[in-house]
Amino acid sequence: MNSNEFWNPVLETMPREKLQKLQLKKFKEIFSWAYEHSKFYRKLYSDAGLEPCDIKTFDDIRKVPKIEKSMLRGAQGKDPFPYGDMLAVPLNEVTAYRQTSGTTGQPVYQADSWPDVESGTEAYAYGMWAQGYRPGDRVFVPFGYNIFVAFWAYHYAAEKIGCEVIPGGVLNTEARILKMQELHATAMGATPTYVLGMADTARKMGINPPKDLSIRKITVAGEPGGSIPATRKRMEDAWGAKVYDQVGSTEIGHWGWECRQQAGLHVNEGMFLVEIEDIETGKPIDKPGQRGKMVATNLNRLAQPCIRFDVKDIIQWHPEQCTCGRTYRRLDGGVLGRADDITKVKGVLFAPGAVEEVVRNMPQLGDEYLIVVTKKGDIDDITLKVEIKPEYKKDEVSIKAKLTDQLRLITNLGYNIEFHEYGSLPRSQAKSRRFLDMRPH
Ligand SMILES: [Zn+2]
Repeated sequence: MNSNEFWNPVLETMPREKLQKLQLKKFKEIFSWAYEHSKFYRKLYSDAGLEPCDIKTFDDIRKVPKIEKSMLRGAQGKDPFPYGDMLAVPLNEVTAYRQTSGTTGQPVYQADSWPDVESGTEAYAYGMWAQGYRPGDRVFVPFGYNIFVAFWAYHYAAEKIGCEVIPGGVLNTEARILKMQELHATAMGATPTYVLGMADTARKMGINPPKDLSIRKITVAGEPGGSIPATRKRMEDAWGAKVYDQVGSTEIGHWGWECRQQAGLHVNEGMFLVEIEDIETGKPIDKPGQRGKMVATNLNRLAQPCIRFDVKDIIQWHPEQCTCGRTYRRLDGGVLGRADDITKVKGVLFAPGAVEEVVRNMPQLGDEYLIVVTKKGDIDDITLKVEIKPEYKKDEVSIKAKLTDQLRLITNLGYNIEFHEYGSLPRSQAKSRRFLDMRPH
């Protein structure tokens, strides 16, 4: 195996037994750190009767109380302002403020010290290197990164690797495309929605991305599309580029990425501990192919530690080791959905992500779609809004029949299908929400 393939050849190819020993050692260290330095964690662990010396095995880790978003929100706003007593360093060591987007309620504040910024950059660099970013790449960031974590780490990691970075934040979409073209940018990072939207805009400007632009690698984050085969294919065809999924969150950091094999998300197990729990019983799942809820620990984050965070993402382990030579385990199919989004519609368990694969597999439809669930009397009513491409308007009846069949097959539900003008459904640059549950709760 060519060691130039790996950002950190020692860690990424470490025998699993040794890797697990390392994870246990690092977990003990971060647990002790939080216990000693954060009042929030000290109280949480003392109330559970746990001290650092109690953590000796992986089974002991599973006794450590989990944290969740509501606890993070509850801790903040107090002294030291605004992070509250979760903070494990003096306030004057905090060098970066980030926050969650707040799509599911009040935002969570995230404090990073300089060592945290450095380890966050390092975590992102693993993924970019695995995706083939090298010195000489000219990386365009078509994104206004501000208080949100997205693409800061991408920017820093690209610089750390030795790529040349072009921040395209304040430009509009047209100007970004022209800048990319002018400077022969070779790679970019964005959300799947924006990657698709940008290609649309380019074509309207008379620019054909595969032919007229030099982008050959695209890293996508913020939405699950990079791991949904039909969405990935749309992006790759539109750009003539390879598309790689990269995952992370404000609270955890960037814990996973796809390598050049594009065959599942590698978990960065040298820097993170990812556990999977049964959604109903909470029992640990180690077996591949069994879906459960993700529980994540950042083994390096110091200012605002993230230990056993109940992420509520649905994931499953891949059964095999990747052919790239890494011993880091992979998640099969990426992040499969959110435990929060899984809901019952007409008495059937419904995961909105399944609809995306169906819609994007039909070339007659546009990239955007919207699912709306309402209640008519006592009965749930589910509507799928899609865009039909102008050249297929004449085939509306047969497309509708095919879509209805596919949806029933995959999700077990019947839908009202609404066709909209191509380009008329809302598009956003940030995380798109394509599932609206309008039923009274
Ligand atoms: Zn791999």
